[in-house]
Amino acid sequence: MVLADLGRRINSAVADVSKANVVDESVISGLLKEICNALLESDVNVKLVSRLRNKLKATIDAQDKPGVNKKKLIQKAVFDELCDLVDCHQSEIFKPKKKQTNVVMFVGLQGAGKTTSCTKLAVYYQRRGFKVGLVCADTFRAGAFDQLKQNATKSKIPYYGSYTETDPVKVAFDGVEKFKKEKFEIIIVDTSGRHRQEAELFEEMVQIGEAVKPNQTIMVLDASIGQAAEAQSKAFKESSNFGAIILTKLDGHAKGGGAISAVAATETPIAFIGTGEHVHDLETFSPRQFISKLLGIGDIQGLMEHVQSLDLDQKDSMKNFSEGKFTLEDFQTQMGNIMKMGPLSKLTSMLPGGLGQMMSQVGDEETSKRLKRMIYIMDSMTKQELKSDGKIFIEEPTRILRVARGSGTSVTEVELVLMQQKMMAKMASSTKGMMGGPGGAGMPG
Ligand code: GDP
Repeated sequence: MVLADLGRRINSAVADVSKANVVDESVISGLLKEICNALLESDVNVKLVSRLRNKLKATIDAQDKPGVNKKKLIQKAVFDELCDLVDCHQSEIFKPKKKQTNVVMFVGLQGAGKTTSCTKLAVYYQRRGFKVGLVCADTFRAGAFDQLKQNATKSKIPYYGSYTETDPVKVAFDGVEKFKKEKFEIIIVDTSGRHRQEAELFEEMVQIGEAVKPNQTIMVLDASIGQAAEAQSKAFKESSNFGAIILTKLDGHAKGGGAISAVAATETPIAFIGTGEHVHDLETFSPRQFISKLLGIGDIQGLMEHVQSLDLDQKDSMKNFSEGKFTLEDFQTQMGNIMKMGPLSKLTSMLPGGLGQMMSQVGDEETSKRLKRMIYIMDSMTKQELKSDGKIFIEEPTRILRVARGSGTSVTEVELVLMQQKMMAKMASSTKGMMGGPGGAGMPG
């Protein structure tokens, strides 16, 4: 089962519980069965599924006391256990520092998406103000250097490689030395991949590692390879001791479960996920955000963090959000930022309430048009309306009509904006709960 279907199926299992008149043992056991089946069909390792089932059952039993809202309790427990499944509880993910040399070495099998991910990561850091260089140490595959060169040129990233030198260790060393001398802050080394795990490949990786002394080694793992991911990751872990994973091809038809199991087996955090072939299709990974998106409940926190990392206008949004608030004005600021950021279809998938999904289905041009109309709507609101939590429109519905006229849109569109803001405000208050305050997390009922 592909990941999007997995999310839908788990959601519908949880929704069934919400619909039940009485939540008794049989309803809970039906829920557990459905969630486990869905995970198994997505290739998640059977041991992990069984552990999740036991923990979920134990949490529900332990916290089920008189006065507790059982449906909410179940929603929260499902959410938390799914997060736990993709969380290896290691916070040591690479954080490169400016004005220092950070060498990043990539490992992985051929076809996993190594070269593509190298460029994506280079662009990611370049957009955040780092001086980044790419080194092609893949002398095994004919055309590897050309591919890297082409990607790098397109994205205006300086690169190093050789058509004549056949020793990958020498090329890697020379490239890193060259960029170091030129005070590059992030030097990304692409190594060669082979079709299978071959002793020679692992030996070569060890030698390159010794030559360039990476600050971080990243394994690139194809999410669509299913159960084979586990053995592959373990073999790489033993030889290169990578500290982070980039999970590629999570778009499209990847089941993802095999890779998720591999992550658990190596106890190494996923740093990024690849969600397409385009150079911007790279997203930072956080268990809560990933599960929120999987279940289609939006990732407004991720959206905010993304905006923040790009040094855009934040006004008071982050402060408000951390206090559990989200006004129409915050929404207006975020929307304005989204328009500056592109590619829109990726960003809108972070929006909650189905709107994100709907927008990501219609293409960037249409998405852009719809977002612009949302901005016109908010631009037509008064300061008082923008500063409000939106209830002012319910109290005086004529305001909706005025805004629709003023912005050249329809009443339905204004209502949709208000609904979105309301959902985000709800999410802000539940995120505050997740961060330790009262309330707690949960899927919208
Ligand atoms: P390498 O052999 O590991 O260096 O793999 P490449 O970087 O050459 O990638 C192999 C293929 O996978 C190429 O066609 C890439 O465009 C594609 N690819 C890489 N990452 C992703 C991803 O996140 N999503 C999709 N759909 N394709 C990807």
